[in-house]
Amino acid sequence: MDHTEFRVKAKEMVDYIADYLENIRDRRVYPGVQPGYLHKLLPTEAPEKPEKWDDIFKDVDQHIMPGLVHWQSPHMHAYFPALTSYPSIMGDMLSSALNVLCFTWASSPAGTELETIAMNWLGKLLGLPECFLNEKNDSPGGGVIQTTASEATLVSLLAARTRALMELSKLNPELQAAELLGHLICYCSDQAHSSVEKAGLIGLVRMRYIESDEGQSMRGAKLEEAIAADKEKGLVPFWVCATLGTTGSVAFDNLREIGQVCQKHGAWLHVDAAYAGSAFVCPEYRHWLDGVELADSFAFNPSKWLMVNFDCTAMWVKDSTALHRTFNVNPIYLRHENSGKAIDYMVGSQNEDIKKLTLKKINIMNDIDHPKADDNKVDNKFNKNNGVITQIENRNITKVDAVEHWQIPLSRRFRALKLWFVLRNYGVVGIQKHIREGVRLAQKFAALVLADPRFEIPQPSNLGMVAFRLKGDNAFTERLLKRLNARGYIHAVPACFKGIYVIRFTITSQRTTNQDILDDWNEIKIVASEILTDVFG
Ligand code: PLP
Repeated sequence: MDHTEFRVKAKEMVDYIADYLENIRDRRVYPGVQPGYLHKLLPTEAPEKPEKWDDIFKDVDQHIMPGLVHWQSPHMHAYFPALTSYPSIMGDMLSSALNVLCFTWASSPAGTELETIAMNWLGKLLGLPECFLNEKNDSPGGGVIQTTASEATLVSLLAARTRALMELSKLNPELQAAELLGHLICYCSDQAHSSVEKAGLIGLVRMRYIESDEGQSMRGAKLEEAIAADKEKGLVPFWVCATLGTTGSVAFDNLREIGQVCQKHGAWLHVDAAYAGSAFVCPEYRHWLDGVELADSFAFNPSKWLMVNFDCTAMWVKDSTALHRTFNVNPIYLRHENSGKAIDYMVGSQNEDIKKLTLKKINIMNDIDHPKADDNKVDNKFNKNNGVITQIENRNITKVDAVEHWQIPLSRRFRALKLWFVLRNYGVVGIQKHIREGVRLAQKFAALVLADPRFEIPQPSNLGMVAFRLKGDNAFTERLLKRLNARGYIHAVPACFKGIYVIRFTITSQRTTNQDILDDWNEIKIVASEILTDVFG
């Protein structure tokens, strides 16, 4: 495809996108295809010769589109929203075309600086305390865009693990990292997302699940009880994940109570607000943020409800040096002459003062986290007197410098652009209006459910989600959901709280109207009547 063809075909693509989104209400939200359908339609090998764009695109229309779940549809009620918007699409269009990689300031100065600026804007918009922002170059706090909430959780667990191992190694210099690791334990509620469990598995640490209260909320007293019992056994609590807006029922852990317990025991507090974080742009929902100043890290997905298309997870930390020493490598090819004068989201020398502060700790961690005993190119000398390891090496990687690391991968897309476009094009007022409308529509749906005596809402609903069921046996609701999804006019997924099966009905699309909610409720009532007639005659 040359420039001339691109100009024509890309404009056609823009029309295709606008038509798709404008008319999305008319599409069946859930596809009627069976596993393997696409394999039967497409060749098994890539084409030998170049194909015409029109032929390629014909296959999109005929074969790909019928196999998609239409996440932007107003009848999409499954999971949580994964919204996009025109300014966000334009941000990704431009970012794809530029394809700059923003790992260091030097690799794309505007990319890096715009991310810091947009993350400060967003942090303020949510009402996060100043300690999470990065408005001064030597500020230890700051925001970074991660790929997913799962990754933000893992990054925070690894940073907390490093901090705990450093402390433990000072007290037990004779023990290896693997032995110290066996003493660590972390906590989350029994309602936490599976990605929290996954972070524990990857981090090779024990995880204890705290029983949530009747409102699905993790409370300080239960956490304190578990930590005290674990300390009795010689375990070291090092990380707690609190959820604001659980996946099952959009319940909120009690941040203040949990934060106080974490402070008492020196544990890192991470807040996973993947879905609900967007709601904090509205001051009326910020009561759930009470105690956030006690947290060490906070993450939510603008890629869910804030209309910034996937991927975009906003993560803030109070002390970014904890991340830097966790992922500490500093190859010479990534250093640049402006190192230390601006943020490098992946790697680069830091401000001299921070460098001095963290150098000793980093050196200890080099031994703990990156054992090089089998690498004959690196000669490690461990000085037992002051616990500082000096590495002398003959390849172009050295670890004697303090460096900035905010994430696991090296390369990073220019994701700040789409976030910045959305914040500017909607403005605070536009974003607040969008969130409030989602909540209003969920309340409207809840009122319809409660007015029908065959249905119930076993848990109070929060924000844009309503978890409802047919009264009686779980099997009725299971059958209802299965049949609704098979018909494909609306799409939802289940949840189960303490043995009670429910259908999660989330308002996802910014295009959802009162009439869509009425139509969806009508569809649910029709299918429910069929099922109850099948059962009771
Ligand atoms: N945490 C919570 C509370 C979630 O609801 C989800 C997904 O919906 C996640 C984490 C995982 O998000 P991601 O797909 O960005 O990793």
